Amino acid sequence: MSGKVLLVTGGSRGIGAAICRLGSKAGYRVVVNYASNKAAADALVAEIEAAAGEALAVKGDVGSEADIMAMFEAVDRAYGRLDAFVNNAGIVDAKARVDEMSAARLERMMRINVVGSILCAREAVKRMSTRYGGSGGSIVNISSAAARLGSPGEYVDYAASKGAIDTMTIGLAREVALEGIRVNAVSPGITDTEIHASGGQPDRVARMQDMLPMKRAGTAEEVASAVLYLLSDEASYITGAILNVSGGR
Ligand code: NAP
Repeated sequence: MSGKVLLVTGGSRGIGAAICRLGSKAGYRVVVNYASNKAAADALVAEIEAAAGEALAVKGDVGSEADIMAMFEAVDRAYGRLDAFVNNAGIVDAKARVDEMSAARLERMMRINVVGSILCAREAVKRMSTRYGGSGGSIVNISSAAARLGSPGEYVDYAASKGAIDTMTIGLAREVALEGIRVNAVSPGITDTEIHASGGQPDRVARMQDMLPMKRAGTAEEVASAVLYLLSDEASYITGAILNVSGGR
């Protein structure tokens, strides 16, 4: 891997943390972005370093363009290169019907999940694209099965934000296909992380697992394996793909 650098937004907990751990094992120097929980990010960096890996925690809200610019500049300063980028940071909100949603809720959802992801992709492309003198790279966007299912009665806004991620993946993949960059998405089903509690449903995994084809939720590690595969040279002819990691859901 010889010093390749991987940046993961929302890399400090849940699926992002599993991607950082697996990325470090694969030989990447890992940049762990987080929004506010410094302790979790620092603990992950310490864990990676204890396993002889190299990692750096960088605070930044992907809902802020200024924070995104500062995050990518921190990567430039620390390593001077970017080989792999994962658009993982994403939020859900409280369970609600569309006829109960405020404009403020929708604007926050789209700012973080959609605008933030596209702005981060812009900054990654500027560093990776041969058009800008870069040496190429690979981008993986974390979507959701919600994009296919629509999440009625729960969070249609979130589902729509992930539909946008799928479309962005297809378009950007084609846009930069001749510039050394592959762009793919991983679309997890219900995965056992703290995101459900953050949306006010800490029992969501336990409540829904019997309705899933495998009668269990996925793990963050199972999602991370798919991400590392798509980032790797083994996936050299795969771009614009949306890989379901949803246990058949
Ligand atoms: P999680 O356990 O809630 O972890 C969220 C991570 O993202 C934390 O590192 C958090 O940092 C960070 N974060 C939150 N808001 C951020 C922001 N505005 N800017 C930068 N970082 C931010 O989430 P997860 O379940 O791992 O989800 C990761 C991705 O997978 C999301 O895009 C989610 O939509 C998608 N997904 C999850 C599931 C699931 O069932 N878990 C299913 C399908 C798709 P702090 O610790 O500082 O808050």
